[in-house]
Amino acid sequence: MSKLLIVGSVAFDAIETPFGKTDKILGGAATYIGLSAAHFKVPAAIVSVVGEDFPEAYLEMLKDRNIDISAIEVVKGGKTFFWSGKYHNDLNSRDTLETQLNVLADFNPVVPDAYKDSDIVMLGNLHPIVQNSVLEQLTKRPKLVVLDTMNFWMDNALEDLHNVIAKVDVITINDEEARQLSGEHALVKAARVIEKMGPKYVVIKKGEHGALLFHNELVFFAPALPLEEVFDPTGAGDTFAGGFVGHLAKTENISFENMKKAVIHGSNLASFCVEKFGTERIQELSHEAVQQRLKEFKELTQFEIELS
Ligand code: AMP
Repeated sequence: MSKLLIVGSVAFDAIETPFGKTDKILGGAATYIGLSAAHFKVPAAIVSVVGEDFPEAYLEMLKDRNIDISAIEVVKGGKTFFWSGKYHNDLNSRDTLETQLNVLADFNPVVPDAYKDSDIVMLGNLHPIVQNSVLEQLTKRPKLVVLDTMNFWMDNALEDLHNVIAKVDVITINDEEARQLSGEHALVKAARVIEKMGPKYVVIKKGEHGALLFHNELVFFAPALPLEEVFDPTGAGDTFAGGFVGHLAKTENISFENMKKAVIHGSNLASFCVEKFGTERIQELSHEAVQQRLKEFKELTQFEIELS
């Protein structure tokens, strides 16, 4: 099993969807990634920062899932990162209402010694300078570095973002962000442009329309499982990323063929995430439920066809 290092926000979120509204609940990119990757039972650590207002119970919950939380710094007197967003009726798009960086604003990440030689590094959504600093602390080049980011950093730290993108192997990004980053509308063209920035593999997430994996001339598409009820899409992208790296870490195989399976595992876990608000569904999820839905995924996408 490969060692997995996860970097990203651990946060409070306030979410509004057509089905309801939450007060401050547990969120953050690294939280979703960690909870999702934990389903693969790989050794994993999160590097992040929270304020003194962050409930100890949330940290314990992550620890209970065998996630090493020793590098989640708690800043005395500090306030935890806060994000709030409101989804449109189609649930595929949202507006950010507020981003309070708080303790994230001057976060200096420290990678634990035991994870400086990690095989897989997942750079979740955070300031690109922080993502870069994590890479610089590693004692050996990981087998795979995966980066996720969002429009906020394209708007606020584009040059820093380009610097870190140049160093990674895989980028996972949603469709609108791929268009913004590349300046291309067609996603195939956008992926080509992004590949030239550094990553050899580009994953474009399209919400309820699935995900595309690009590598040179190769393309793989995985649909999203059609669900009867989508409650809250927050964290679906991060949950996808957690499943993607979790599978790769567990199988220790970073071939394109195995990445296709990783995309399916990511999509499978993300399909649970959206069924309840925040991290609730992904926290309570059983191994059996994950396996059962994988089976549904297989049945959904498999077909025989005669070529004439
Ligand atoms: P996703 O829905 O997968 O894009 O991820 C949503 C999560 O990203 C939320 O839990 C937020 O706390 C977190 N998030 C939102 N904006 C930022 C940001 N600028 N930096 C880091 N994390 C963020």
